[in-house]
Amino acid sequence: MYKAFLIKYNEIGLKGKNRNFFENCLVNKVQDALDKLGEYRVYKEPGRVMVDCPDDYDYDDTVEALGTVFGIAGYAPIVVLPDTKWENIKAGVLDFIEKRFDKKDFTFKVFCKRGDKNYFKTSQDIAVDLGEVILEKFPELKVDIHKPQVSINVEVRQRTYIYTDCLKGPGGMPVGSGGKAMLLLSGGIDSPVAGYMIAKRGITLEATYFHAPPYTSERAKQKVVDLAKIISKYTGPIKLNVINFTDIQMYIYQTCPHEELTIIMRRYMMRIAERLAERGGCQGLVTGESIGQVASQTMQSLNCTNAVCSMPVFRPLIAFDKDDIIAISEKIDTFETSILPFEDCCTIFVAKHPVTRPILSVIEKSEELLSEKIDEMVDEAIKTREVIKVQ
Ligand code: ATP
Ligand code: MG
Repeated sequence: MYKAFLIKYNEIGLKGKNRNFFENCLVNKVQDALDKLGEYRVYKEPGRVMVDCPDDYDYDDTVEALGTVFGIAGYAPIVVLPDTKWENIKAGVLDFIEKRFDKKDFTFKVFCKRGDKNYFKTSQDIAVDLGEVILEKFPELKVDIHKPQVSINVEVRQRTYIYTDCLKGPGGMPVGSGGKAMLLLSGGIDSPVAGYMIAKRGITLEATYFHAPPYTSERAKQKVVDLAKIISKYTGPIKLNVINFTDIQMYIYQTCPHEELTIIMRRYMMRIAERLAERGGCQGLVTGESIGQVASQTMQSLNCTNAVCSMPVFRPLIAFDKDDIIAISEKIDTFETSILPFEDCCTIFVAKHPVTRPILSVIEKSEELLSEKIDEMVDEAIKTREVIKVQ
């Protein structure tokens, strides 16, 4: 019945002079999402993005793919009439109701939008007149202008669009419209959610994962690749940098006070991620940290970690409870993968009693003990990283 979709957006509509740029981004992202499925035509119309589907398209696959495109507030499968002749609109709407509803016993209201302001009827007149035409043909139906069970939408533009069901899109801004960030992606629950949330605001992601073979296994790494793959459904392709962190971790372990291990290790993660972020043209770092979750995420610990970065560090989950983070991870389908029981490099050299209120000057003093070899080791870790293109 449907051969096209109409896509609505919210925030992009508020963009004033930059609106064109955001609309073009959305068109590109919708096209990217649908290219995998077939030859769809995606194009702009005033205030809308339109999708014409190929003859052999699959409805469910299309709905699913559009549900992953940030920037889409809502999307409706539509019937397209080739013109705006009044006789054709009337016949088209009746035909639509005939086919769309098995039981014709609901209350309805007709909503009309007019693109062509010179059309011989106003939007209001079109809606009222169509209401009458519908009641004449289907006398069991009732009009309810306050709480209709069914909204019959008619848009009179170059052509005429008829639809009733508008599906909820993921919202946000089209990926690529807002810059680029480096996600520190672990195999846990939080960081994939953090990446999803930042991407939802229009940010392209690159990612860095620190592993510590042989203490962490190939399976642990694969789990991170799998997580990147799941979020890439929403974010588009992700370049994943895999850093071999073993030597650095061992060196810190052998050299620094054990209760400071986690915090010093995290500072080196941030330093390395920032170096890669600069190379990748990123404007910020992203982590899955949340205040108070673990010893390394107290305010004092976060300040100590932050102190090594000159780029802003974005922590979209900072004030989220674990339950709320889990709810999002279930929604975006990363939860089941995140809870697979593979070791993380952070948990391997963890101290019995890590400091929870580290003092920056004390940590910096301990790091001086690493001065002999650490710079070289960091350079080496960056040079020998593995790059995986995930999509
Ligand atoms: P997550 O569930 O995201 O792993 P977590 O609750 O385990 O988080 P931490 O281990 O303290 O918390 O990590 C805090 C943040 O540091 C993570 O959200 C992630 O952004 C980053 N991080 C931790 N370990 C790694 C790693 N091995 N590789 C890359 N980033 C990491
Ligand atoms: Mg973790």
